[in-house]
Amino acid sequence: MLFVISGPSGAGKSTLCRRVLDNLEGLEFSVSHTTRKKRRGEVEGKDYYFVSQEEFKSLIKANRLAEWAVVHEHYYGTSKREIEKKGAEGDLLLDIDIQGAQQIKEKYKKAVFIFIMPPQFRDLKRRLKTRGQESSVSVQKRLEMARKEIRHYHQFDYVVINDELKKAAQELESILRATRCSLDSRKMEIVSILRSFSGS
Ligand code: ADP
Ligand code: 5GP
Repeated sequence: MLFVISGPSGAGKSTLCRRVLDNLEGLEFSVSHTTRKKRRGEVEGKDYYFVSQEEFKSLIKANRLAEWAVVHEHYYGTSKREIEKKGAEGDLLLDIDIQGAQQIKEKYKKAVFIFIMPPQFRDLKRRLKTRGQESSVSVQKRLEMARKEIRHYHQFDYVVINDELKKAAQELESILRATRCSLDSRKMEIVSILRSFSGS
């Protein structure tokens, strides 16, 4: 199953993804390609595949991306390989922007879409400033973008309001756990259980 996490920059997507990845067995993070610079502490191949614009454009040309978008002036994309690698039975978590989420929705009808919302605009502003990874111009751009992005919540299956981190992480985990119990996700297990019922 593909789980797509989206929402404004600073809403807490990475933080929540990290928490849920630590708590849920068998869940993996989809490592995106990006042309933005590596931030302090980020690891190549774990947080992102950091590539040049030329490399990114050649991935587009070769049709190797499942989705891609320009976000805050940089290219970001999920490779088809990253999705195929996990296989149809595995669970993969995608932290991507809204344009990317829309593309995934077109191609992977069964994916689950989760929107992360900050409790208030002022919280988003404070979080972006205290994260301290952007210049004040970049923070301003992200905030302007957030005013537009926040309106897309209705295109998603679930909304997690990231007010108290622990509660938001529990909600996200619950969505993933509940999806794992859906009829569709349980199909293979059910077949095997039913088979056991047809013997003596
Ligand atoms: P995103 O991945 O959506 O851009 P981050 O996960 O980087 O957002 O979070 C932005 C900042 O807000 C980080 O400094 C993070 O530690 C902080 N943060 C995330 N969730 C909360 C929360 N519930 N309460 C307070 N601060 C938070
Ligand atoms: P950041 O630079 O803060 O890591 O991410 C900036 C934005 O890019 C976030 O909204 C994040 O969800 C988005 N993003 C990260 N990877 C991808 C991707 O592969 N595709 C798309 N469309 N957006 C991505």
